[in-house]
Amino acid sequence: MTTIEAPPQTLAPRIVVLDPADGTVVTDRPAATDAEIASAVATARGAAPAWAGTAAAERGARVREAADLVAARAEDLARLVTREMGKPLGDARGGVEAAVGTLRQYAELGPVHRGRSLAGGPDATDLMVYEPRGVVAAITPWNDPVAVACGLIGAALVTGNTVVHKPSERTPGTGALLGEILAGALPPGVLTTVCGGADAGAALVAQPLDLIAHVGSTATGRAIARAAAGTGAKVLLENGGSDPLVVDETVDPAWAAEQAALGAFANAGQICVAVERVYVVREVAYDFLSALVERAQALRMGPGSDPSTQLGALVDRRLRDEVHRQVSAAVADGARALCGARVPDGPGAFYPATVLAGCTDDMAVVREETFGPVAPVVTVGSFDEALTRAARSPYGLAATVLTMDMDRARRAWRELPVGTVKINAVFGGAPGGAAHPRRGSGQGYGYGPELLDEMTATKAVHVGVGRGR
Ligand code: NAD
Repeated sequence: MTTIEAPPQTLAPRIVVLDPADGTVVTDRPAATDAEIASAVATARGAAPAWAGTAAAERGARVREAADLVAARAEDLARLVTREMGKPLGDARGGVEAAVGTLRQYAELGPVHRGRSLAGGPDATDLMVYEPRGVVAAITPWNDPVAVACGLIGAALVTGNTVVHKPSERTPGTGALLGEILAGALPPGVLTTVCGGADAGAALVAQPLDLIAHVGSTATGRAIARAAAGTGAKVLLENGGSDPLVVDETVDPAWAAEQAALGAFANAGQICVAVERVYVVREVAYDFLSALVERAQALRMGPGSDPSTQLGALVDRRLRDEVHRQVSAAVADGARALCGARVPDGPGAFYPATVLAGCTDDMAVVREETFGPVAPVVTVGSFDEALTRAARSPYGLAATVLTMDMDRARRAWRELPVGTVKINAVFGGAPGGAAHPRRGSGQGYGYGPELLDEMTATKAVHVGVGRGR
């Protein structure tokens, strides 16, 4: 067993991923060179006309077959996700299942994605028709690597685009395996996977692309938008958040703590819509905090491969250092660590579920995204104050409000400047729901049926009546 405790080598010609549970090498593979990336884009460009000219029903059938192939290899994918990024195996299986469901959904929706006919002059024909954009770069993160990639790839392919996928350098083995599986159902060149780090991503977005779909951090999203301004590619960004949870005095504080624990600690806090900051009204703050600490301390931390694990390791020590830096800075500025907040001894990148009381909005742990199992709690005087402070953020991904007061619920969903508002549930939502993230959290639809609109360009057609000779 080789044990090396070092971050992934993003700049080296090879990408090395260590199992965050024990530090052993899981993946060691070459990173794509700039020439290979240019060649992948040229291949996608070459394959584009034939794929765009394929009947939509046939494209749907290919994507459905791709879903079946992913389903057949679900266990291999899930195990590799757990080994590369640490999440409990049950959660990794759930991510692959979600990916299969999304591919199947797009396989059905693609062929019925339709344009419009318009009411023009009585003799004219006026249409709005959808066409593929061309070559799409899908650039994805590691926190739910199969589900996120399959959403972008499925929607792009079924609408007639060819795709170059760049998975995260933290889950390159998963990305490469997924690419191989999907390609088994597709004509050559329609989907290419290129592995590499930020430099490979930057080389990809410098290429002549028609659309860049990025799911990842806000800083990267902004770098991609800058690059795309130079090439003219359309950009879709699903980026980071600092999602608030508001708890008012009308709810049971023990139930609110259960919701907060789920939102802050699931996937060890490595979810874009994780609870990032909690505003609790003073009247229930003590009971809420006590129950939250109890839940945090009850979580069983361990390797993702152990079925009893509830809190897996963070993806790597680089992220753990960042999380601990934010927690320590908050404590230095007056926050009280009620539990956690300590880097454990031993191998891997574990970090305990952490509850911080007495936080303020200017602390990085509240203001910024903390991609770890941390619940920073701010005690406020009233629901109004909570709502005002929840709205004040450089991000606008999602927010949750726990209240039994209908008027407060209505005000929350109307007033919060975010893409998704959840009342009385930190996670969930009906199938097909899609939202526009706001501010630093991105732009455009990143999922749902509306992603098919983003992946296509609309052409207006006017056919008049000619006069023959
Ligand atoms: P990241 O932006 O660092 O990496 C994501 C991808 O971008 C990787 O493939 C990476 O190699 C690539 N990349 C990095 N620099 C690049 C550059 N200059 N040009 C082109 N590509 C580049 O993000 P991450 O750390 O992998 O993922 C965590 C982040 O993703 C969190 O902020 C999380 O909130 C966000 N996220 C958002 C959503 C959403 O739907 N809004 C979903 C999942 C994750």
